[in-house]
Amino acid sequence: MLGLRNLYWGARIGVATLMKAENKRKKTKEVCIGAVKIGNFSPITVQSMTNTDTRNISATVNQIRTLEEAGCEIIRVAVPDEQAALALIEIKKGISIPLIADIHFDYRLALAAMRAGADGIRINPGNIPRTDLRAIIEQARERDLVIRIGVNAGSLEKELREKYAEPSAQALVESALRSVAFFEDNNFFNMKISIKSSSVKTMIAAYRLFAEQSDYPLHLGVTEAGSLLNAAIKSSIGIGTLLQEGIGDTLRVSITGSTVDEVRVAYGILRALDIRNVGVNIISCPTCGRCEIDVARLVREVEGHCAHIKEDITIALMGCVVNGIGEAGEADIGIAGGKDSGILFMKGRPVAKVAQADFVDVLMKQLETLLAERHPAQRS
Ligand code: SF4
Repeated sequence: MLGLRNLYWGARIGVATLMKAENKRKKTKEVCIGAVKIGNFSPITVQSMTNTDTRNISATVNQIRTLEEAGCEIIRVAVPDEQAALALIEIKKGISIPLIADIHFDYRLALAAMRAGADGIRINPGNIPRTDLRAIIEQARERDLVIRIGVNAGSLEKELREKYAEPSAQALVESALRSVAFFEDNNFFNMKISIKSSSVKTMIAAYRLFAEQSDYPLHLGVTEAGSLLNAAIKSSIGIGTLLQEGIGDTLRVSITGSTVDEVRVAYGILRALDIRNVGVNIISCPTCGRCEIDVARLVREVEGHCAHIKEDITIALMGCVVNGIGEAGEADIGIAGGKDSGILFMKGRPVAKVAQADFVDVLMKQLETLLAERHPAQRS
């Protein structure tokens, strides 16, 4: 609408983001997935997983590109058969973020995926025999690729299922530590670990327990988290609690639904904890009897216009002039609604009277001006 995409998309995430709380973060080993560093205080990265048929190359590439636009930094694809493994060759050519192959049961698919150019492998120790894992380890070592050991409450090793009555945090951590020991015994150290459960409490306890005993980088997630609302709640509590404690190096929010929503929720969690402030932060009042405008509609419209912007900007959308400006005094830009018109304000200071019909256009114009002031060199 206002040329913001071209003007600001050049500022890739990571360059324009804030990393805070390094002192609090647990130090972990550093691994590299393609060009993306994970661990050792690297920025906490956002991952997602495609839900296309990997064998459908164009559909998978299109989805990954959309996710890249949304800010996804590492992408995982399912590799259920040989054809899917071969598809990685072409998929890699069409995308610019690191590609991880998700492997279950058949070690030969991991070997094929690595040959096809995967930047990393995710395996589940519960469903690949140790003897087969050695072949994966050998090839990953030769290619200097990272393996994620992805322990999952739903697929614990039989022995641990028998030892523990339920997939408790202890059971999950024992599974992860056993696998880590096996990989290390085979002279492989280029790993990251995930210990996922659909139970938020179990997942939090498991990651805490593991982090006390190991310094491998951790991939955080709540698995089978449900549709958007449930997944956002569970992931915010599960992933957010751990991040706040300094645990976690990369994350994936699992949602039954839009993969782009996974990325949006992930950045929302990071922003809420002031870890990485990526994108426009829209604050809006809940409305009350003083409200003079349709705040919900205004929020939807402004969100739609700002979805592609990666700059850290706070926009306030408030229902009334009486309290709105004061309540959102810290916002970079804001609108406080009035009967037929509203007040445009910046950092709590009224700037102009605006007709209701012009709210969105005026806000976007102001946003463009603000961004241009911050990045004069990009304005050409
Ligand atoms: S800003 Fe105004 S309308 Fe919104 S909640 Fe506060 S008092 Fe109510």
